[in-house]
Amino acid sequence: MSEPLAFVDLKSQRQVLDERLREAVGGVLERGQYIMGPEVGLLERRLAEYAGVREAITCANGTDALVLPLMAWEVGPGDAVFVPPFTFMSTAEVVSLRRASPVFVDIDPVSYNIDPAALEARIQAVKKEGRLKPRAVIAVDLFGLPCDYQAIEAVAKKHDLMLLEDAAQAFGGRYRNRPCGSFGQAAGVSFFPAKPLGCYGDGGAVFTNEAALAEKIRSLRVHGQGGHKYEHVGIGLNSRLDTLQAAILLVKLDAFPGELEARQKVAQGYERRLKNLAVVPRVPADCLSAWAQYTVRTPADRRADIMRAMSEAGIPTMIYYPLPLHLQPAYAGLGGRPGDFPEAEKAAREVMSLPMHPYLTGEQQDRVAGAFKKALA
Ligand SMILES: *Cc1c(COP(=O)(O)O)cnc(C)c1O
Repeated sequence: MSEPLAFVDLKSQRQVLDERLREAVGGVLERGQYIMGPEVGLLERRLAEYAGVREAITCANGTDALVLPLMAWEVGPGDAVFVPPFTFMSTAEVVSLRRASPVFVDIDPVSYNIDPAALEARIQAVKKEGRLKPRAVIAVDLFGLPCDYQAIEAVAKKHDLMLLEDAAQAFGGRYRNRPCGSFGQAAGVSFFPAKPLGCYGDGGAVFTNEAALAEKIRSLRVHGQGGHKYEHVGIGLNSRLDTLQAAILLVKLDAFPGELEARQKVAQGYERRLKNLAVVPRVPADCLSAWAQYTVRTPADRRADIMRAMSEAGIPTMIYYPLPLHLQPAYAGLGGRPGDFPEAEKAAREVMSLPMHPYLTGEQQDRVAGAFKKALA
């Protein structure tokens, strides 16, 4: 049997970039400015330029990149923040960390992203009930595909809500020629190693066009720092990006446009091979996916068998995500029940993500598709 495939092949990427990575890391070690070294500011300028925003503020991880704007907006107890239930835990967790209330909104079954019509209905319902004050929406660009921002921005504007883009999986994605990370009053991205742009540890960044918000977040990420190091004007976090990670990201950002292109080719290759075997992802004509994941749907009662057979053939697969957030034990207190968000629950039963990274060859795609077909038969 041939070698098992990698789900995300960080090794091939490292081999390609090896010399440049060593040089970048070596430079940081030589200068010894491990905290807020010059690479951090340089990376922030490069990221802002790439995402087409005025300000990029790096931080310790993608979760902090979402909580920092909520802190700056003073979202807190009694506030409702609308989030999809079919996403990684962080999207709702950051709301709970602020002691505000996550209010779940079902997803669109084709894009897997928050359904703008369901969002409108849920906001109306919360207003009618009168217990919570609608404050913000966190729109997740799941698997790298941007949300329907025209519709979501209209709803947010109508109800005077802050819009926070969870672009943790979507750096490089585009909606109507605007980069992901540029929607809403702020966006958060993650540089977790397996994300489209990943470092070698944890990292994240907040993107915004608002100078005052950027200044506040720059203070909040270092303990609410004021005019000098030991003056504190607010209660913040220790959430800086390491200089070493910034140096690594600068190298990876240079390679990123080529890698993004390669991901498109892999996605096209998968589509050609799999469209008659499974429900493959659909990308609207005005969108570009960053392809953090290539996720197909299979019959729910066959999924476990398919995954097992593929694993035996050396093809790793993953379920993102097996349990929607309203059914998580941590959110039992909110009283969510099966049936509350049918599309999120159906997706959780049916989805399966295949190996996806820029270094996946045509031959490897043949192996994945072949194993899928055989498992299905
Ligand atoms: C990865 C991820 C996050 C959190 O990022 P970390 O860097 O792991 O903290 C938030 N939201 C979504 C949708 C993610 O996939």
